[in-house]
Amino acid sequence: MTDDAKEVVCINCGRAAPHLYQQYCSTVLKLTECTHCGKVVDKYVEYDVVLVVLDLILQDLCAYRHILLNAKLKNYWRLATLFVLCDAYYKWIERRSADFPNDSLLIYDLEWRFYQCLLQSVVETAVFVVAILILHLVLTSQPDRLNTRQIVNSVIAGFYGNVLVVLAIVWQLHQTWSYVVLTQIFIFISQVQVQRAVSALFTSVGRAVAAVIIATGFKRVTGMIISAFF
Ligand SMILES: [Zn+2]
Repeated sequence: MTDDAKEVVCINCGRAAPHLYQQYCSTVLKLTECTHCGKVVDKYVEYDVVLVVLDLILQDLCAYRHILLNAKLKNYWRLATLFVLCDAYYKWIERRSADFPNDSLLIYDLEWRFYQCLLQSVVETAVFVVAILILHLVLTSQPDRLNTRQIVNSVIAGFYGNVLVVLAIVWQLHQTWSYVVLTQIFIFISQVQVQRAVSALFTSVGRAVAAVIIATGFKRVTGMIISAFF
């Protein structure tokens, strides 16, 4: 008996693999070896989820491939909602402390400003995703084989660093510029690793960095335009 995943990849070389493991009985399970690189296709099958998360935080490319390509996660829209809310909350806290340092804003105004920040976060995230998609379309020679859903899901997952930004607020570090810069660098590197993990077009670091810089640029410009209106 094999795992029921239809399309899996070797997390080491990124090539397609027939399956992750073979299960001979309820207690005997043999991990598949990659025919290309000779390593175990996906060692994280046997890992505890905490160890996988730790490797993700350490920006391990293999851990990204496991989560994004082999784990078959569902409900990415929930992750998207969570990450956008985190980003909107950070923007809201920053704008409130900048515009009204003495907490002189009414509840109604506070609520309205949060909706403005939420709208800005939604649009910025959408622009980032669309920019990455357009780059894929421009660079690929086989646009009909482009897995749009996988790219969108992966980019959404790459924003998991937004949770760290909320933790910064909880720990009163959100006005410490070094922490803010570190979290932005973390999110940037996460998106680079996501592109390297899921796309054959961006396996090289240079290409992935260039793609994320371009998408981030569009995202920032959009954010500045929206901020100018509110
Ligand atoms: Zn391999």
